[in-house]
Amino acid sequence: MISTNDVRRSFLDYFEKEGHARVPSAPLVPQNDPTLMFVNAGMVPFKNVFTGLETRPYSTATSSQKCVRAGGKHNDLDNVGYTARHHTFFEMLGNFSFGDYFKDRAIELAWNLITREWGIAKDRLLVTVYHTDDQAAELWKKIAGLSDDRIIRIATKDNFWAMGDDGPCGPCSEIFFDHGDHIAGGPPGSPDEDGDRFVEIWNLVFMQYLQAGNEIIGELPRPSIDTGMGLERVAAVLQGVHDNYDTDTFRALIDESGALTGAATDGPMQASHRIIADHLRASGFLVADGVLPANEGRGYVLRRIMRRAMRHAHLLGAKQPLMHRMVPSLVAEMGAAYPDLVRAQPLIEATLLQEETRFRQTLDKGLRLLDEATAGMAKGDTLAGETAFKLYDTFGFPYDLTEDALRSQGLGVDRAGFETAMAEQKRAARAAWKGSGAKASDEVWFDIVEESGATEFTGYAVAEGQGEVI
Ligand code: ATP
Ligand code: MG
Ligand code: MG
Ligand code: MG
Repeated sequence: MISTNDVRRSFLDYFEKEGHARVPSAPLVPQNDPTLMFVNAGMVPFKNVFTGLETRPYSTATSSQKCVRAGGKHNDLDNVGYTARHHTFFEMLGNFSFGDYFKDRAIELAWNLITREWGIAKDRLLVTVYHTDDQAAELWKKIAGLSDDRIIRIATKDNFWAMGDDGPCGPCSEIFFDHGDHIAGGPPGSPDEDGDRFVEIWNLVFMQYLQAGNEIIGELPRPSIDTGMGLERVAAVLQGVHDNYDTDTFRALIDESGALTGAATDGPMQASHRIIADHLRASGFLVADGVLPANEGRGYVLRRIMRRAMRHAHLLGAKQPLMHRMVPSLVAEMGAAYPDLVRAQPLIEATLLQEETRFRQTLDKGLRLLDEATAGMAKGDTLAGETAFKLYDTFGFPYDLTEDALRSQGLGVDRAGFETAMAEQKRAARAAWKGSGAKASDEVWFDIVEESGATEFTGYAVAEGQGEVI
């Protein structure tokens, strides 16, 4: 069986052999884009190369890029543990052409890798193209020999990519793997496409046009290619399992949380184990890249991820902080590919231990309050916004943690009520400062906090403005 580490290596080797420069993953905190919370696609570190602002000594490249999708436009946090294919942290394998090759070569390279190098059966594969992209449809027919019914035309923006309102854009073509009719879900474009039967493994973006003010104003003089393939998803395919959480890397982490807590890893606690494994990866890699838990911005996204996992550790019956004890397994699985993770191991462990120790001081009480508040509620009911706010304010429960805690009972949370309670507290705090005769500078501080939207609960203080990135 090919390991996930070998899948990554095999992808990069293949594209290197085909003349691409092998570029290491950039850090998760974007270096070139202050509006983006975390790098969420392989092309992000290359944005300025695509627009021509920056030149590099190569015109084609390949990378395995660390990505986090846990806030802003791409937020897969709520999917984690509940779909077979979503993580907060994942690696995106990619090949890029900066005005070098275009559609035909991109399709040929992709098809040869998955069907020849990796031997994925052609009859398990489907592709989508943008509905007007006849050229791509023709190429799939010619290069891959796919029949018309395996080339699905999609008219939504799922198959049209743009860097923002201004800049390069173009149609995409996605490759799906059919895991078989024993799994629920329909093909792309069908009403139940969000199921897990047909899993999107690779997105090929054909940067072809130039946009200004969200309108296409012309063709790019040198069209480019940007592709993104989920390493964990393709590893699942190549390891003959349906679910990303059944691949070698995740199995090792899940077995560890099973061993440390004594809780069975299948059955009713399965989602908790999966969430812990996923969030451990995200936490470890974010700390390694310099993010620390905080009450706003990136640090608050990290805190939300950590605390969410810590509630699940509590559900598994952990009597002591758990997460830091899992770091050695994470390093054993991923340290060879990411030496920064090895270097940061002591910091990751210390940070997780401190956060979990702290959170455990209020977690029990908060959960008790939650139990009391929801006693007698029925499926479909919602928790009062003030209660969610009290959990946030007094017990350190991020809003989404409360939502996650109620999910299994089919209960919701009154978000608007939560926001009102939050606004009211801010107003009261401001009034108290005024009354205290404090200096004007303190009021300035409140203005800044409010204007910058440092709303301590969403953690979206850094706006996501750059449009869809594949
Ligand atoms: P999906 O529709 O399944 O949510 P997506 O269309 O949002 O995926 P893209 O933005 O096209 O994904 O990203 C390129 C590739 O990265 C996808 O084809 C998939 O293989 C992988 N990928 C995207 N999101 C995740 C995630 N949350 N966890 C793991 N892999 C992902
Ligand atoms: Mg998605
Ligand atoms: Mg998709
Ligand atoms: Mg996609």
